[in-house]
Amino acid sequence: MPINKGIILAQARNLYYNPGMCADVSSFSSHFLRAVGQPLQTGVSLARHSSFQIGGPADYFFEARKTEELVRALALARREGVPYHVIGGGTNLLFDDRGFRGLVIKNGIKEIRLCEDDVLAVQSGSTLKEFLQFCVEKKRQGLEFLAGIPGTVGGAVYGNAGAFGQCIGSFLFDVRLLSISGRTLTRPAEEMEFSYRDSLLKRSGDILLEARFRLKEGDPEVMRRTMSEHIAGREKKHPPYTVASAGSYFKNPFPPRKQAAAAVLLEKAGAKELKHGGASVSPIHANFIVNTGHATAADVRALAEELKERVRKRFGVELEEEVIYLPADSSGP
Ligand SMILES: Cc1cc2nc3c(=O)[nH]c(=O)nc-3n(C[C@H](O)[C@H](O)[C@H](O)COP(=O)(O)OP(=O)(O)OC[C@H]3O[C@@H](n4cnc5c(N)ncnc54)[C@H](O)[C@@H]3O)c2cc1C
Repeated sequence: MPINKGIILAQARNLYYNPGMCADVSSFSSHFLRAVGQPLQTGVSLARHSSFQIGGPADYFFEARKTEELVRALALARREGVPYHVIGGGTNLLFDDRGFRGLVIKNGIKEIRLCEDDVLAVQSGSTLKEFLQFCVEKKRQGLEFLAGIPGTVGGAVYGNAGAFGQCIGSFLFDVRLLSISGRTLTRPAEEMEFSYRDSLLKRSGDILLEARFRLKEGDPEVMRRTMSEHIAGREKKHPPYTVASAGSYFKNPFPPRKQAAAAVLLEKAGAKELKHGGASVSPIHANFIVNTGHATAADVRALAEELKERVRKRFGVELEEEVIYLPADSSGP
């Protein structure tokens, strides 16, 4: 059985879960207001925070706009034994139809600076689009391959996002993290165990606060042109951005070779004819599961199982999900 890293991570993040300690909604909400200085929302639809447009309500929801707010919110959740999960743009996640029994924190912490030592420091809630725009303004090249990938820098570093054989982790200099014990620390990029769609963050449960890059000087015109070409290429190969999905559903089988790309295997296995409830395989790209309007997480997962089964039978290849499923009760032991 493939490991569901989403469940393991959620469990790792909730070691302190102690059901019952915080059963009283109004008491947790008032604690939160005192500790964080901002009001907490309750019963927020996670579908609204997911590019899949799927997911039931989170018991508690908060959008952090400052690092101190994030640090305090997480410290309180740990202290009170409330399960939590930090999200960015929600573009690589499948939320549970039952939502999330605990606190979902959306990372809205955005600041990008060019530091004196020629280092670009980006706070993890900034979107890749905002960061690339800043790189163009400051004439710093190298990350153009990320153009068109939605979501935040935090989500991109977590999953070592990339395209065209390049990944964000290869360009990082170091990262500032909030550890699971609430400590902030800096780690050089070499310690982050980056590999294809993987990083140490998937195992440690640490939260990325800031990523720092050292990039070469570039010509903004050339950078703009390269990014436009990448985006145009995506528009040809992928379903339009208006279609609800979370990007490629499965990782390419390792080592990623063209003939072994998940989309190729899926297409040969007849994936494009398949659907389940409101979830169907995109007719444009066999590795995109799309929400045709009323899909549930159960529909998506049932379709994904069928796709895996077809590829397993036909090619003996075990596909692994790239999209992360967050179960409602990922509350640990
Ligand atoms: C149309 C489309 C095209 C896409 N194309 C690509 C592509 O070409 N290449 C690619 O790699 N991906 C692609 N994706 C997937 C997705 O956009 C990326 O994985 C993106 O980097 C996710 O960022 P996010 O902020 O949305 O993360 P989210 O979906 O919000 O979160 C993903 C995971 O990251 C964790 N996380 C988020 N922020 C932090 C943080 N600050 N610290 C620690 N953990 C954090 C979350 O807990 C969660 O487990 C695509 C998605 C879509 C919808």
